[in-house]
Amino acid sequence: MFFHLVLTTECNLQCKYCFGETMEDFDEDFGDFNVDYSLSKRVSYSWKTLADFCRLDPEIVLTFYGGEPLLCTSEIRQCMDAVKAKHFMIQTNGLLLDRLEPEYVNRFHTILVSIDGEEELTDYYRGKGTFRKVVDNLRLIRKNRFRGELIARMTVMEQTDIFKQATWLLDNKEFSFSSVHWQLNAGFWGNDYARRNFRQWSKSSYIPGLNRLARFWVDEMERKGVVHKLYPFLGIADSLLFDKKPCLLRCGGGWVNYAVQTDGYIIPCPTMWGMKDYYLGHVATEDPLKLKKLFVAEPCSKCEILNVCGGRCLYANITRRWSKEAYAEVCKTVRGLVNAVEAEVPRIRRLVDEKRVSKQDFEFLKYNGCEIIP
Ligand code: SF4
Ligand code: SF4
Repeated sequence: MFFHLVLTTECNLQCKYCFGETMEDFDEDFGDFNVDYSLSKRVSYSWKTLADFCRLDPEIVLTFYGGEPLLCTSEIRQCMDAVKAKHFMIQTNGLLLDRLEPEYVNRFHTILVSIDGEEELTDYYRGKGTFRKVVDNLRLIRKNRFRGELIARMTVMEQTDIFKQATWLLDNKEFSFSSVHWQLNAGFWGNDYARRNFRQWSKSSYIPGLNRLARFWVDEMERKGVVHKLYPFLGIADSLLFDKKPCLLRCGGGWVNYAVQTDGYIIPCPTMWGMKDYYLGHVATEDPLKLKKLFVAEPCSKCEILNVCGGRCLYANITRRWSKEAYAEVCKTVRGLVNAVEAEVPRIRRLVDEKRVSKQDFEFLKYNGCEIIP
């Protein structure tokens, strides 16, 4: 099982698609959901409690999460010293990576770091100076011998040219990544669709960009024999080519990947913090292997591509923050993604048959924080 540990509700950045949206969203009604807005800012359960909980699953994977988890370096050290997990991971904005000693950083199996592409774009979304500090820290941890997987985690919206930014992250003079994932800022806030240009952008920029990027991805396999870990493509290609079973929600939210709030209550995914109707018990009393499972409802449950999409996002499906029409626009991007990979399947199959790339090149640790469907 996978668990996000929410170490703090605080963050040291004020990104446009997160803090900015919260401000715009402030007066929005959050439906009939019963939300606890008074969660403790820091972890209020004991590491012993968590250690006992984790002992029940020898395969457990823990991901430090926030807010910004590196605001809690002492909690990270304490947790890693006290709790036995198969892997530790962290999802961070990267600004404070230099505050954690290499003996801890180097124990992370995976670090997901938020970066949106080139300096100009990253700083536009995340604030001036963010890119430079993050890149400096990434160079530092590599110098200090971090050998785990480093995933660039992009948040994507209207100012992003997906082809330009994803290819830049894979190969540039500042810091090149071998793993890239992206997530659309879509369906998470209440009133942003009306004031945004999502429909036009997804049709004229994002979906054509996905087609171009998928062609580039396979061109690189042909040219260099390399399968770049572009997670959305990797997950879909794996399903279309190899692991053909119908998939459940690909992020694992609510069925294999849960989150532990600062107060120890377990929720299906970190975005559902405080939503009391979805509390699944407490780390002090639950067995990680026996948690209740939740699955997406309509429109996903009746969708003809549910088998390959998996439902995109449990939070969006439950909260329905975007209208039916707006939700349908997001689904068009999912179809666009599947179509982009599907169009390349014959070429990939040929490359596998010719042994220029292998089935193993498409393998990845599922539920590692990459949701696959952006
Ligand atoms: S394409 Fe849309 S409706 Fe269909 S399963 Fe995915 S998110 Fe749900
Ligand atoms: S895709 Fe949705 S349900 Fe899954 S982890 Fe992200 S916010 Fe949670």
